[in-house]
Amino acid sequence: MAIHTLYPAERGNLTLSFEYFPPKTDEAEAQLHQTVAELNVFQPGFVSVTYGAGGTTRERSLTAVAHMIGDAGVANTAAHLTCVSATRAEVDHVIDAFTACGVKHFVALRGDPPAGIGSAYQPHPGGYENAAALVAALAARGGLEISVSAYPEKHPESADVNADIDMLKRKVDNGATRALTQFFFDNDDFERYLERVRAAGIWIPIVPGILPINNFAQVVRFAGLCGARVPEVLRARLAHLDDKPEERFHEATHIAAEQIVDLARRGVRDFHLYTMNRSPLITAVCDLVGFARQDAPVASIAAPARRMAV
Ligand code: FAD
Repeated sequence: MAIHTLYPAERGNLTLSFEYFPPKTDEAEAQLHQTVAELNVFQPGFVSVTYGAGGTTRERSLTAVAHMIGDAGVANTAAHLTCVSATRAEVDHVIDAFTACGVKHFVALRGDPPAGIGSAYQPHPGGYENAAALVAALAARGGLEISVSAYPEKHPESADVNADIDMLKRKVDNGATRALTQFFFDNDDFERYLERVRAAGIWIPIVPGILPINNFAQVVRFAGLCGARVPEVLRARLAHLDDKPEERFHEATHIAAEQIVDLARRGVRDFHLYTMNRSPLITAVCDLVGFARQDAPVASIAAPARRMAV
């Protein structure tokens, strides 16, 4: 069956990565495995597995990463890692455990305070002070790919965007080679941020984090915590569809696909999708955009209308 796409001319030129979180139950684990198998058809450049607050999901992260690399065959599986509530030796031990599983790519993060987002962050007395210090430790090992976070709408703790960009620069100077952004819904915010990052002399890929919306109320709550803005237009398109799952799914698919296509037309080539460990919405978005499937022929014809310095 032919799939209707919004961006057929560029399929094959865009790359994808998928973010998963470690499951908490056997049932959730089975769902994760099925999701990974279903999304692998889009041949992600890499997948990543998050790391829980305070290292609480260390074992589950390791198990999920081992599954991705061993059973699901995603060689480039990135392990997220934070500095929270751990000494340097403990973090180093976790890095050893991940590398023993075959991990060659880390997403190096400071993490949130153990008391939760909003409380003051205190580095562990014997730990890595922040993400930049963790990046330096990973880079010193050699042979590892190191991604970090970026915040198009400013990290909630930052005084301003300049402080954010200074921190990004420190991470890049210490060896980070890619930044994955917090999710955002207004591409102009991303473009403005990217212009400031480039003006600061930072030239690593800044990969937009795309969050297709399964549950609007939940995303509004989460966005409030992360300092991400939910534009009125999204509210108008989704808020009234809580009790209409099919219409909500259709609208959410179009919103995320339109966001990706608009970014692609501005010159963005790489996209990091927050999967929430579920495949139907992500699959629908990828198909609607026109991302190449493993078994489908690839066509590439037109150049995008306008390019940012990505
Ligand atoms: P950094 O990049 O080090 O700092 C973010 C900003 O906060 C900086 O720009 C800086 O200006 C400011 N800042 C940092 N420290 C201070 C300070 N002490 N005082 C004032 N300002 C300060 N969390 C998890 O627990 N597990 C995960 O797996 C995970 N994955 C993530 C993946 C992505 C792509 C993103 C965007 C976030 C992720 N997070 C994760 C959330 C992240 O841990 C939080 O946003 C955390 O608050 C900041 O960590 P960071 O590495 O992004 O911080």
